[in-house]
Amino acid sequence: MDFTLSEEQLMIQQAAKDFAQNELLPGVIERDETQTFPWELVQKMGELGFMGMMVNEKYGGSGLGTLSYVLAMEELSKIDASASVMVSVNNSLVCWGLETYGTEEQKEKYLTRLATGEIIGAFCLSEPEAGSDATSQKTTAIDKGDHYLLNGTKNWITNGNIAEVYLVIARTDREKGHRGINALIVEKGMEGFDIGPKENKLGIRGSDTHSLMFNDVKVPKENRIGEDGFGFKFAMKTLAGGRIGIAAQALGIAAGAYELALKYSKERKAFGTEIANHQAIAFKLADMHTKIQAARNLVYQSAWDKDNGNDYTLSGAMAKLYASEVAMETAIEAVQIHGGNGFVKDYHVERFMRDAKITQIYEGTSEIQKIVISRSILTD
Ligand SMILES: Cc1cc2nc3c(=O)[nH]c(=O)nc-3n(C[C@H](O)[C@H](O)[C@H](O)COP(=O)(O)OP(=O)(O)OC[C@H]3O[C@@H](n4cnc5c(N)ncnc54)[C@H](O)[C@@H]3O)c2cc1C
Repeated sequence: MDFTLSEEQLMIQQAAKDFAQNELLPGVIERDETQTFPWELVQKMGELGFMGMMVNEKYGGSGLGTLSYVLAMEELSKIDASASVMVSVNNSLVCWGLETYGTEEQKEKYLTRLATGEIIGAFCLSEPEAGSDATSQKTTAIDKGDHYLLNGTKNWITNGNIAEVYLVIARTDREKGHRGINALIVEKGMEGFDIGPKENKLGIRGSDTHSLMFNDVKVPKENRIGEDGFGFKFAMKTLAGGRIGIAAQALGIAAGAYELALKYSKERKAFGTEIANHQAIAFKLADMHTKIQAARNLVYQSAWDKDNGNDYTLSGAMAKLYASEVAMETAIEAVQIHGGNGFVKDYHVERFMRDAKITQIYEGTSEIQKIVISRSILTD
């Protein structure tokens, strides 16, 4: 096996690292406290090609592979997981979904602007009573001939207020079960579409999370993605790739927390020596390093599967499950290694600990990943 990165991949990794250090690090603590993320930073990420990394150049994207995308996600997440979730949703859910299943007209109209970062998108599946159990969709999209009439509420939507384009999953025909669900492109400002207040969150506080309310929103038929009834499959296929992005985010959080802990352990002295010289601390670092490398291998493997036309449902689920556990564990240990300083905001690791938790929850909880993995190995 050859894990050597190409010149192009190394350049992308370095560009993401430089951007994270120079543009994301200043102000990251303040953004976490104030729950804000300036639009100029999204635009800069767009200018650098991070908002449509896997999109074909003819639609304004960077035309890169999934491996390049996870390299960038890892570097951005080492500094600011709020920034990287915006990148992840726009790339793996919105742009990928539109490019793979959208019509030429939909791509021309929406994808070209989403891929350049001129605008940002949101992916709207979760509801107050439909999270893990996504088939329990209560939002309805009733067929009215030339349009669908959309009614219902979506919860926890990333980019909820800053997005211009929303991919909304809704039920058209209850009788048909999951085959009665559609995916619709909804634009901000459509009559009857309202956005709830920003959620006050534990972590990724710079990211923009809102509930969305649809009250008799008329969505033109040409805004449906795929055939009638394709919506549930669309959501599952899109989320299978999305998990690779979140796995890379978790990997970056783990690596970011580890790097800070390693540095601190060589500086901080206790009992007349640097704390890294105490075996209890050195062994924590050894465990962190080993687990991060194992997580990285799973993340790269799933990206490689996607780039090479292999099925990536299993490898993506394993990567997300493991990388998110490593992120949580590593961030907790990074706080421990920092002692009292780990508990205050200036040292960043407490933020990593709070941010890590979401990677075990969104785009399928750890329990749901285990369902995906066990089903796959039991049916093989
Ligand atoms: C910050 C944030 C951003 C988000 N962004 C988005 C977004 O952009 N778009 C979007 O659509 N959604 C988004 N979500 C929603 C997220 O995907 C859901 O919260 C997640 O899928 C879990 O759903 P739930 O919250 O309803 O939990 P539930 O499904 O109610 O689960 C509760 C608990 O029960 C467990 N559980 C449920 N079913 C089973 C089972 N069969 N076996 C074992 N355990 C089970 C779960 O693992 C979990 O531990 C976001 C959430 C947050 C917090």
